Amino acid sequence: PNSSYHTDFLLRTGRVVDESKAKYPRYPDMCDEEKRLQTFHNWPNYVRITPKELAAAGLFYAGNDDQVKCFCCGGKLMNWEPSDKAWTEHRKHFPDCFFVLGRNVGNVSHESSG
Ligand SMILES: [Zn+2]
Repeated sequence: PNSSYHTDFLLRTGRVVDESKAKYPRYPDMCDEEKRLQTFHNWPNYVRITPKELAAAGLFYAGNDDQVKCFCCGGKLMNWEPSDKAWTEHRKHFPDCFFVLGRNVGNVSHESSG
């Protein structure tokens, strides 16, 4: 028997995939939108952007000023302006974030059904 045949077959059929570049959420505990929302209990009220919007964009509160982090890429965002949108800023600063790119990174969304 020739053991190299099987590998050769997989290579030719394209079934060998390099998964070394796969990115996993930096903060898997924060995959759940509801959990992210709960981190905002101390969110300063001078910030115009709402915890709901931030949590929906994959962000949770880091506990300092208005600094938030993404559960997926770990990117930090702060100094929110009144006109900022959570998704827009996330996409602008961390365009390679798998959550921004719409990949399945285990996010648990809590969109209201009604
Ligand atoms: Zn991100």
